[in-house]
Amino acid sequence: MNSLRLRLQRSMGARLVALFLGLLLAVQVASFAALRASLSDHAHSVLPERLEVGERVLQSLLDQRAHKLIEGARLLAADYGFREALGSNDAETIVSALSNHGSRLGATDAALLSTDFHVRSSTTQRRKDLELLIGRLAREASRTGQASTVALLAGMPYQAVLVPVKAPVTVGWVMMAFPLDSRLASDMLSLSTLNVTLLSRESAREPWSVGLTSLTQDRATSLAGGPWAAPAKRMASIDVHGEEFGVRPKWLSRGEAGAADGAVVALLSLSVDEAVRLPADLQLALLGITLLGFGAVGLGSVYAARRVTLPIQSLAGAAERLGAGDFVTPIGGTKRRDEIGDLAKSFERMRVDVAQKQQQVQQLAYWDSLTGLPNRVQFRQAVHDAIAGAAPGTSVSVIMLDLDRFKYVNDALGYHFGDLLLARVAERLNQQAVRDGDMVARLGGDEFAVLLRSGDSALGLAVAQRIERSFAAPLALDEHTVDIGASIGVASWPQHAADANVLVNRAELAMYSAKRRSSGALLYDPSIDVASAQTLSLLTELRQAVDRDELRLYLQPKLALDSGKLVGAEALVRWQHPERGLVPPLQFIPFAEQTGFIRVLTIWIFGEAARHGRTLHDLGLDLTISVNLSTRDLLDADLPQKFELLLAKHAMPARAFCLEITESAIMDEPQRALATLDRLSAAGFKLSIDDFGTGYSSLAYLKRLPVDELKIDQSFVRNMKTDASDAMIVRSTIDLAHNLGLTVVAEGVETAQVWDLLRDLRCDQAQGYHMGRPMPASELADWSERWLGRQHQLKSEAAMRLH
Ligand code: C2E
Ligand code: CA
Ligand code: CA
Repeated sequence: MNSLRLRLQRSMGARLVALFLGLLLAVQVASFAALRASLSDHAHSVLPERLEVGERVLQSLLDQRAHKLIEGARLLAADYGFREALGSNDAETIVSALSNHGSRLGATDAALLSTDFHVRSSTTQRRKDLELLIGRLAREASRTGQASTVALLAGMPYQAVLVPVKAPVTVGWVMMAFPLDSRLASDMLSLSTLNVTLLSRESAREPWSVGLTSLTQDRATSLAGGPWAAPAKRMASIDVHGEEFGVRPKWLSRGEAGAADGAVVALLSLSVDEAVRLPADLQLALLGITLLGFGAVGLGSVYAARRVTLPIQSLAGAAERLGAGDFVTPIGGTKRRDEIGDLAKSFERMRVDVAQKQQQVQQLAYWDSLTGLPNRVQFRQAVHDAIAGAAPGTSVSVIMLDLDRFKYVNDALGYHFGDLLLARVAERLNQQAVRDGDMVARLGGDEFAVLLRSGDSALGLAVAQRIERSFAAPLALDEHTVDIGASIGVASWPQHAADANVLVNRAELAMYSAKRRSSGALLYDPSIDVASAQTLSLLTELRQAVDRDELRLYLQPKLALDSGKLVGAEALVRWQHPERGLVPPLQFIPFAEQTGFIRVLTIWIFGEAARHGRTLHDLGLDLTISVNLSTRDLLDADLPQKFELLLAKHAMPARAFCLEITESAIMDEPQRALATLDRLSAAGFKLSIDDFGTGYSSLAYLKRLPVDELKIDQSFVRNMKTDASDAMIVRSTIDLAHNLGLTVVAEGVETAQVWDLLRDLRCDQAQGYHMGRPMPASELADWSERWLGRQHQLKSEAAMRLH
């Protein structure tokens, strides 16, 4: 969570701030560059003018100096003593006057010239150089009466003047020369902010040498070497050690062509870079503005970033809460009208959706949607909680309930009806069972359960019986009246089980036991468990029984009532157990049916029946052998095929066999059972309804079945001599069966009276201990002999009595 926040801050916020500052920086740099460019442009455009102005300044500086020098020279020329000395030709005085005056003015050289410009006396020894200079001045002086010039003197630039000495006519000339010194440069700099560099050379063949300069010496040298003399340009641009200089030359002396009197040029220069450079205060101001801008933009962008990242952080937090399964806390920020608000709204919608879905899942996980009752999961949890929270000395009881004929109802009347029925059952249970704190649950299918949070086994059984009684009354539903029973089991904690799971399992065991015994509500008893433990080992033993050939096929004769002839036999299985002896089928058939092992048994029995049928046929006994089928057999789609294989093996026709099915075997899954029955009937097998009268088949239903025979249950037959209602049932069953064109068999015929009675009622066949008990199949032929003999004997005795 924290790391996510940090990451967000680091990325989004920091990026935004960096972006804004970067943009600002770019703008600043661009405007600074533009400023510099325009300054540079400006400088380039105004520099030539400034240089030009500078040139005029230089000129006037030179003019002023010349004027001053001329004035000084005139003063000397007008000096009385000087003129006196001139007249007296006092050379000594003349030189000293020249020297005194000259040095006062700053002249290094002074000379007195004759009227034809020849040196009469001078303060220097360099006559030759002087004469060159004088030559240049003389021409102008003879025209204008005075002269001034800049020229080289012994290779150095000098300013020289020439004035006449008048008394009153011109009697000679005074010449003075002053070196052009650094004062000129410094004056120039202070007046025009331009630099001046004086260059000179003796002749055009020599390089320029720097006379004086306001620049540093090496800059001046480099400037001197540059192309300052480029023609037709008002300003030359010269690179001096990487710095651009605007330069304008001013020729002070071009030198005489061919003469070795040299040339002097003043270079006026100005650093362009310096001109472009921003003034310090402006720079400071700019810096200040930039810093202020950075500060403002930085703060602004941090604020903006926080406005974005804080809600995103809170959304990230919300997402993490959702991830952690908190769908209760609403998501904030949905009132914002921007994209983040939209995002928050989406999140909120998602939260509500997921919360709803979760609730639905919860509902599905813990509630039965059909009845609205808690489901198995919740029930087990509730039992668990009840035991965990039980006060000392109290009990917790569980009642398990399974509807008896629900499947039949479902198939016969449709699933919708089945659903309605389940809902009604749920209602009934709620009315019957529940005190405050108790729970009724649907565990699945037609299985329900009740939890009595504080109730011992006595109370549990009482409630169970009350429920059972409530089921005795038929349910009226959608114009139908349904008689639906329930098998109920009860178990209590701590009496029967130490924990919740065992408690539920034991109540279930009791319920199954009740179902098997078709008894009422049953309280759990350890013997049930023992029984179920026994059944487990029984399955293993049963498998071995087939392998070890411990099963025996017994046959019980079926006789025609009118003739007394043996017409068939019912195949009944026995188990010759090595320790337990002969085990009756009721001790293992129901178990084999539960586990599905019955399919194996049925095939074995049918095979044996076919084998013995063959043997009996070969002995001249053409009997119909009846074989019992179970629910599981009817659900086996391959059964007809398996039977036909066995028939082929023993060369027996299908019509020599009758298959007995109980009604409940059909009712468990009528559709599939019917399909199998149709195929068996089509294959030629006779079909018989076994134990008729105990089930729930309706007449209409019987009509749809491809049956040939009805077998009246022995419970009606055995007592028909004494019980009028049983006799009544037997009589009407016989009539009914005959009306439907079916053969009627009575089983459980234990006495001659019943035999006679059945014969009078026109029942077709009889089976029972009175005629013969089930016997090993191989003994049937002998029994048949004896039976025939007995019949003969009876007949002859009867005939004797008649005589
Ligand atoms: P069931 O099909 O009704 O078989 C008739 C039962 O009634 C047989 O019991 C038979 O011995 C008995 N019985 C016959 N005559 C009389 C009589 O006069 N009085 C009395 N009290 N009983 C009589 P059994 O052999 O013990 O078989 C019991 C049940 O076990 C059978 O009832 C049948 O449902 C099942 N069963 C037996 N053999 C097989 C078999 O091979 N396959 C299948 N699926 N079930 C079998
Ligand atoms: Ca039977
Ligand atoms: Ca029977």
